[in-house]
Amino acid sequence: PVEYVACPITENGDVTGVVVAFTDVTERSALDRMKDEFVSTVSHELRTPLTSMRASLGLIASGALATRPEKQEQMLQIAIGNTDRLVNLVNDILELERIGSGKAELHYSSVSADALVRHAAELLAASAAKAGITLRFQLEPVLAWADGERIVQTVTNLISNALKFTPSGGTITLSTRSMGPNEVQIEVADTGRGIPPEKLEHIFGRFQQVDASDARTMGGTGLGLAICRSIVTQHGGRIWAESEVGKGSSFFISLPSKPSSSLR
Ligand code: ADP
Repeated sequence: PVEYVACPITENGDVTGVVVAFTDVTERSALDRMKDEFVSTVSHELRTPLTSMRASLGLIASGALATRPEKQEQMLQIAIGNTDRLVNLVNDILELERIGSGKAELHYSSVSADALVRHAAELLAASAAKAGITLRFQLEPVLAWADGERIVQTVTNLISNALKFTPSGGTITLSTRSMGPNEVQIEVADTGRGIPPEKLEHIFGRFQQVDASDARTMGGTGLGLAICRSIVTQHGGRIWAESEVGKGSSFFISLPSKPSSSLR
C-alpha cells in the first residue's frame, strides 16, 4: 500500500512533482509472523516448567505429603530444577535479543584463535574429565579479527553441546586452521550420537532440537546454537555442522582473519 504521498505546489498552483512512498508489506508481515511465532514459542517454553512447578508446590501446600518428608523433598527438587530452567531460558532469550538486535556491541581486535579455543577448553576441562571424555587439540596458530570474549562464548557452547551428546569414552577434537589469506576456521568435532542430515540446518534455529526430549533430559534451552550463529554472523563469519549419525558431529566456525571495511 501507499504509505505517503506529497505533491509540492508552487504559489501559482502548479504541481511540480509527486512523491509516493510504498512499503514492502510482504517483508513486513513476514517479520510480524516471525515475531508472533517467537512469542508463542517462548510462551509455550515458559509455560511447561511453570506448570510443573505449580503442580509440585500445590501438592506440598495441600498438606497431602505432610507425613512424607522424602516426597516433599522430591517435589521441592522438581520445583528448583524448573526454576533453574526458567532462569536459563530467560537469560538465553535476553542474550539472543541483545545480540540479534545489535545492542551487544562487539569489541574487535586481532586475536589468536588457537589461544581462545584453548581457553574455552580449559573452562570445560573438569566437566570433560568427569564425563570421561578426552579433549584433543590440533591447534595451528592463527589470528582472527574478532571479539575474543564472544568467540570463547561460542566455542564453549559448542564444546558443552559436544559433551552433552557424546558418551563416556568419547573424544572431542578442537582444531584451528588457516583457510587462505583472510579466513580462519575453528572446528569442534565429537564422537557422539550425530545429527540426522535433515536436521543439520534446523538446529541453528531458535528452540530447535533433534529430539523433543533433549531440552528436558539434557537441560538445554534450544537457543544455544541460535546464539552462536547470531554471534558468528555479526563477525561476518559462518557457522555450520557436518555429521554422521552414530559416528559424531563437527561444528565449524569460519572467521575473517583481518578487518574488512564492512566490519568497522
Ligand atoms: P540445546 O540448549 O538444546 O543444547 P542448542 O541450540 O545448543 O540447544 O542445540 C540444539 C540441538 O542440536 C540440541 O538439542 C541437539 O538436539 C542438537 N545438537 C547440538 N549439538 C550437538 C552435538 N554435538 N551432537 C549431537 N546433537 C547436537
